[in-house]
Amino acid sequence: MAEETETRRRIKQIEVMVSDAIRETYDTTTLVFFTGNDHLEYKPGHFLTIDPHQFRALERFTAYLEDQKGKKEPARAYSLYSAPHEQYLATTVKEETYQSGATKYPPLLSPLLVNRLPIGTKVIVTGFTGPYTLPDDIESRTDHVVHICAGSGSVPNMSIMKYALEHHPTIRHTFLYGNKTWSDVIYAKQLRTMQDAHPETLKVVHALSRERKEDPTQIIVNGRISRDLVSQHVPDPDGAEFFVCGPGITKWDRQRAKEAGTEPTLRFLESSLAILDDLGVKKQQIHNESYG
Ligand SMILES: Cc1cc2nc3c(=O)[nH]c(=O)nc-3n(C[C@H](O)[C@H](O)[C@H](O)COP(=O)(O)OP(=O)(O)OC[C@H]3O[C@@H](n4cnc5c(N)ncnc54)[C@H](O)[C@@H]3O)c2cc1C
Repeated sequence: MAEETETRRRIKQIEVMVSDAIRETYDTTTLVFFTGNDHLEYKPGHFLTIDPHQFRALERFTAYLEDQKGKKEPARAYSLYSAPHEQYLATTVKEETYQSGATKYPPLLSPLLVNRLPIGTKVIVTGFTGPYTLPDDIESRTDHVVHICAGSGSVPNMSIMKYALEHHPTIRHTFLYGNKTWSDVIYAKQLRTMQDAHPETLKVVHALSRERKEDPTQIIVNGRISRDLVSQHVPDPDGAEFFVCGPGITKWDRQRAKEAGTEPTLRFLESSLAILDDLGVKKQQIHNESYG
């Protein structure tokens, strides 16, 4: 009950201004927001939401999609890349695509956020909430946090890791990050800098499924995040706490599978949870968030 009241108190609509739009990769942008004097209370891992109806540039597109879908377009959730101890508020957005024959409708909001939000744009955001957060008592639970992420699933984990490195310096981190190619890796530079700053407590492992890349100064493996990779870099899963974030099975995947009379193909999140289950990791040790 106390937690519910606390959440209600924290969630509010605020007007922020884009103070920077940093291109991270060819299809992702970090939006840094100026928040004025508003005191922002959030936990590492929380997300905010952005309602597409506020953007004039999307007006006709939103109305058309609502007619086609027969329902109101909801606000979209975006995890915070910034951490509570940092001066700025930021999220990183990946542009979704329209794939002819595979996706019935084109994506609505992410193309605008990634490509067409000039510095100075005012945006109404609602936040901050979500269960995927670093527990306050993390130090009494573990001394090893394992991050298993893919694509933009790294956004809340960066917030969690930045906060933990600052406030819980005895905890070590293993950051397993899956992407198709090196050009898809968000935060490549930031991860490198963080690793150099915390050589004893942070290990970053990149897994590239569609590219081979050699760099003797970093751990970069070819392939997806597999059971072998996890057990190689996390030989002590019993005592660790896991934060798993990335694409999961979407409602469209379920719909298509149902129509075809099959089961939806497991995506990153479900595969990663299956690996942890196979390694004997208990549910209480696992936090997960799906972007599906
Ligand atoms: C808790 C949470 C946190 C998140 N944090 C982030 C974050 O930090 N960064 C980030 O980039 N994203 C994040 N997301 C995802 C984000 O909320 C949006 O889903 C994403 O940006 C896409 O929104 P959109 O309006 O561009 O696309 P949408 O219009 O929502 O469409 C999404 C995708 O589905 C496809 N699609 C639409 N209709 C159909 C259909 N009928 N059949 C098949 N396919 C269809 C579209 O082509 C598109 O590829 C998060 C999601 C959640 C739930």
